Amino acid sequence: MSTDETHTEKMKALQAEQKKKTAEARDPGRGLVLVHTGNGKGKSSSAFGVIARALGWGKRVGIVQFIKGKWITGERQFFAKFPEQVTWHTMGEGFTWDTQDKARDIAAAEAAFARACEMMASGDYDLVVLDEINIALRYDYLDIHAVIDGLKARDDRTSVILTGRDAKPELCDYADLVSEMQEVKHPFKAGIKAQRGIDF
Ligand code: ATP
Ligand code: MG
Repeated sequence: MSTDETHTEKMKALQAEQKKKTAEARDPGRGLVLVHTGNGKGKSSSAFGVIARALGWGKRVGIVQFIKGKWITGERQFFAKFPEQVTWHTMGEGFTWDTQDKARDIAAAEAAFARACEMMASGDYDLVVLDEINIALRYDYLDIHAVIDGLKARDDRTSVILTGRDAKPELCDYADLVSEMQEVKHPFKAGIKAQRGIDF
């Protein structure tokens, strides 16, 4: 057999195998849990990309941001254009964050998580994004078992994306998907400041 023929045979076998896998793959009948972690850029922006996909299909999306303060971001301004489909909650709205106050941070994280649990259990959302929740977990502002219980109590229709560095192993064990962004190069390391429309 020529190398061309060998190649064709190989490709045919691969294709058949792939087709079989696709045919056998099942629908879980339940929303998935996705974790975006790692130290490279792309965790939140990838989640916002998935939101755009969901909105394209007419789905409903809830976003809870576990970050301090009330940053104006491109994504927030963009998704505000879809008030019928998007509910957005940022932790710490109404608080002042000028002081370093751990008890207040914990209270804010817990309040944001309570809101997230309502969204996940309500059956009103196809997708809930818990942006930077891994940071709240890393600082022990939230308990990992409480978070996993909240995920388990989600409505069947609801998928959840959790973002942030240093995802806890327990969360990764429970999740259906874990992607780790790896930093190869980042402009900040070259002294370039965060860019509107690229970073926020
Ligand atoms: P993005 O929102 O751009 O997808 P991210 O969610 O992966 O980033 P975070 O840890 O949430 O990353 O950081 C948020 C901000 O920090 C963004 O402005 C992002 O560009 C920047 N950033 C992300 N990764 C790095 C890095 N490795 N070094 C410096 N800055 C970073
Ligand atoms: Mg992020």
